[in-house]
Amino acid sequence: MLIKLLFLLKSLTIPSKLFALTKFIKHLCNSILIMSKSFQFSAETRQTFIEHHMQEFDLLVVGGGITGAGIALDAASRGLKVALVEKHDYAWGTSSRSTKLIHGGLRYLKQMEIGLVKEVGSERAIVHRNARNLVIPEKMLLPIIKKGSLGMFSSSAALWVYDFLAGVRSKERRKMLGKESTKKTEPLLDSSKLIGGGLYYEYRTDDARLTIENIKKAVEHGAVCLNYAKFIKPIYENSKIAGAEIKDLINNTNFELKAKCVVNATGPWVDLIRKKDNSLKGKRLQLTKGVHIVVPFTKLPLKQAVYFDVKDGRMIFAIPRQGKTYIGTTDTVYNELVDEPITSKEDVKYLLKAVNNMFPTVALKSSHVESTWAGLRPLIHEDGKSPSELSRKDEIFESESGLLSIAGGKLTGYRKMAERVVDKVIARIDFSGAKACQTAHLPVFGADFNSSDEISQLIIDLTSANKALGLGVEQIKSWIFRYGTETSKIIEIFQELLKTHTDIEACATIAELNYCVENESVLRLEDFYIRRSARLYFDYGNIDKYLDDSAKLLQDKLKYSDEEIAEQIAEVKRQMQLAVAFKN
Ligand SMILES: Cc1cc2nc3c(=O)[nH]c(=O)nc-3n(C[C@H](O)[C@H](O)[C@H](O)COP(=O)(O)OP(=O)(O)OC[C@H]3O[C@@H](n4cnc5c(N)ncnc54)[C@H](O)[C@@H]3O)c2cc1C
Repeated sequence: MLIKLLFLLKSLTIPSKLFALTKFIKHLCNSILIMSKSFQFSAETRQTFIEHHMQEFDLLVVGGGITGAGIALDAASRGLKVALVEKHDYAWGTSSRSTKLIHGGLRYLKQMEIGLVKEVGSERAIVHRNARNLVIPEKMLLPIIKKGSLGMFSSSAALWVYDFLAGVRSKERRKMLGKESTKKTEPLLDSSKLIGGGLYYEYRTDDARLTIENIKKAVEHGAVCLNYAKFIKPIYENSKIAGAEIKDLINNTNFELKAKCVVNATGPWVDLIRKKDNSLKGKRLQLTKGVHIVVPFTKLPLKQAVYFDVKDGRMIFAIPRQGKTYIGTTDTVYNELVDEPITSKEDVKYLLKAVNNMFPTVALKSSHVESTWAGLRPLIHEDGKSPSELSRKDEIFESESGLLSIAGGKLTGYRKMAERVVDKVIARIDFSGAKACQTAHLPVFGADFNSSDEISQLIIDLTSANKALGLGVEQIKSWIFRYGTETSKIIEIFQELLKTHTDIEACATIAELNYCVENESVLRLEDFYIRRSARLYFDYGNIDKYLDDSAKLLQDKLKYSDEEIAEQIAEVKRQMQLAVAFKN
């Protein structure tokens, strides 16, 4: 009843002299509506957030990748008033283009980065506990081959140290295998080269979804998060940074956002923001490019993920997922800062050669590659080191104006990085009411599971409850692994759609998109197809199927003109072409 009344008030039009009062009432109603709904994070809430920009925040985070999302959540959950701006969509940068592993970084042991392996190794367990549906144990095979970089003894010792540093629980500790057992574990390996193998555990994730679920949790804790909002320039008071001028790229307007502290978490763009603050001195970023290719699972039907040697001394992953196998990564110096790094012919050639060398019977060809992605690592420059030798450690730079910039690091370590940054923020703004860091025991949005068994049970329950609707176990599973406990909301929307439509698959896609528009601030088609659902990478062949239906839904909900929605369809198609541009 109250909600109906609020909607009625919101829609009222009152003559001009009452305009200001009307505006105030509408604004109030909007805010109460947002608060009264269990959770909403949509274009509507975004607009209301923007109308709130006049207030002063404790912290402005620039950058909505995993680093910024983790910082926003840490700070908001400690009681700080937080704003976050992202110039494109959340996870648009490197955080949707990684190997999608939460891993301890076995290879960093080779570089004797003991502290790093220990920290990210222990973080794996915490991130898994906080996001059980998104961070899932993955058995990894490390084949030991003749003339490879590791022998049987050194691999066994390295994996033991790895488990020890990360405090791995007993059932996930490494197991060494002889030649025959290794071949049985992965029949595609070349017997003539094989010596043995090691089985150990890493965790697979969906980097972009981990980012958005951190953002949603931060919003639930009161953070104001805006995608398509670009940091233009800093604002200073008494030579100290006091906020920023922001451009709202949806409404094409600029506004000022005041904050006691500003954190630059823009990944590969960190130095660009430091430059705007006139503080690009001393250490700088060194970008390196990494690409992944995706082939049908049938072309590389691995029984589990494999981490294997390349002739040049590097190591790469081949990981089965959603009916595909993806392979990566490369690591090459990249001296340009571009928004859209792309996979080149040479990158593809390098990865195919490595795979065909390790699994000679598969004979992978570039024509088998269905999709690719390329990302830039924001590493810290060190003189004389090759890309693979550069440390993955993070560092915080503090400028004279007070701008804090966080550079380096890994997806895996984002929570700990955020804790360190927020400790500094609290010290800087002298925020005595702040709580201690909460995130070691704070599940991300939709991940309130106490064990993996609870996830399995939810899959069983939702499958049996919705069988009559035509929803199969694979569909339910894919939603639970993406949206966790929020899956039931998608099913509700699906049920509604079924009342007027008969195509089950179309209804499932549209229900998922509908959920994302209302709860994940999807503003453009590509946000959904690339970052919320990763269809561009793992379901490339089916994107076209429901693109027009998806566009129609978005146009209806967000009131786009025909030209605007046509431009968005064209953009998805352009992104599809970029993913396979190496074929041209
Ligand atoms: C190929 C590859 C594989 C990797 N694999 C793994 C892995 O398996 N596991 C792992 O732990 N790590 C991995 N990493 C590292 C990991 O992906 C990165 O460390 C992490 O994603 C960086 O996140 P970020 O938030 O710092 O940067 P980003 O994700 O790039 O986020 C920065 C954001 O800032 C925004 N921004 C820039 N300028 C502005 C502005 N002016 N205003 C507003 N916003 C702005 C950008 O749009 C961007 O979204 C990999 C990296 C690469 C490249």
